[in-house]
Amino acid sequence: MCLSSQTVVCSCSTSSMASSLTTTAKDNLIPNNIETDFSTEDILVDKNSMPEDDPNGNTLHDAHEIRWGPQHAGAKLLASQYTNEKRLQELISILLCIILMMYNFFFICRYFDVRNSYLIIPAALLGILTADLASGIVHWGADTWGSVDMPFIGRNFLRPFREHHIDPTSITRHDFVETNGDNFAVTVPYLLYMAYKFTYLSDTDIRRTYNFEVYMFLLAIFVSMTNQFHKWSHTYFGLPSYIVFLQNYHVILPRKHHRLHHVVPHDTYFCITTGWLNWPLEMIKFWSLLEIIVEKYTAAKPRSDDFAWAQKTEQVHYE
Ligand SMILES: [Zn+2]
Ligand SMILES: [Zn+2]
Repeated sequence: MCLSSQTVVCSCSTSSMASSLTTTAKDNLIPNNIETDFSTEDILVDKNSMPEDDPNGNTLHDAHEIRWGPQHAGAKLLASQYTNEKRLQELISILLCIILMMYNFFFICRYFDVRNSYLIIPAALLGILTADLASGIVHWGADTWGSVDMPFIGRNFLRPFREHHIDPTSITRHDFVETNGDNFAVTVPYLLYMAYKFTYLSDTDIRRTYNFEVYMFLLAIFVSMTNQFHKWSHTYFGLPSYIVFLQNYHVILPRKHHRLHHVVPHDTYFCITTGWLNWPLEMIKFWSLLEIIVEKYTAAKPRSDDFAWAQKTEQVHYE
């Protein structure tokens, strides 16, 4: 077994995560106990996720072990399904979002009352936590229950989730528009409503809901930045030092932390804004309990579409 360079250098601090990882992955460890210098997480990441911190990592594995990357047949097909219409939707979403953010920011500044300034930090923290939870719920829903074959949302909004698991490095080759278009789009309806309120409500009504609007505005910023943070968590080369600093101090999603989501079968650590909620949600088995409930009432199998796309790799390995 090979260990990639980054995995060798780093050592993980928590052992609690091990209990939430899959039985399959754990079973794979049993014959490989010789790696006693490495944490359980390091070994799981190395054996069950793409060595994206090592550009030549795939060449270190036997050919039949190559399971991820741009050469994956499913990844190639999904990448080819990114259309001009989709890009136009992303461009319009980003433009609308930026215009609305500037418009609303003007009113937030205009109605700012220094006596309420102590609320800014709690509002920002609550905004980050809400964005992190929302990123986890959307990500979990798309990964676990979504399908590329679903009408409209499948090709347009779920396709990137499938591509991302079988080629995690693809996000690093996406430009700003492709990376962030969908997250910016999510914020547009509420920002539009906020703009309407700032424009038409009376001063008294605006002041009454001002603190809530500040929270929603900060939430919109963190939601719109989520996939950029996610992209940086996959970027192992050429990141500005201030981004690495923010990652190292877990202000934004750290690289090593997010690698745990990319351990097959991708059933943990779904939060991707800051990842602050991943550990507490794993502790209470939030995602697995939700999956038991959904499966009980719908009889749907979790990750069946994700698994089907992962299998397309066989066409590449053995042709
Ligand atoms: Zn995922
Ligand atoms: Zn990822």
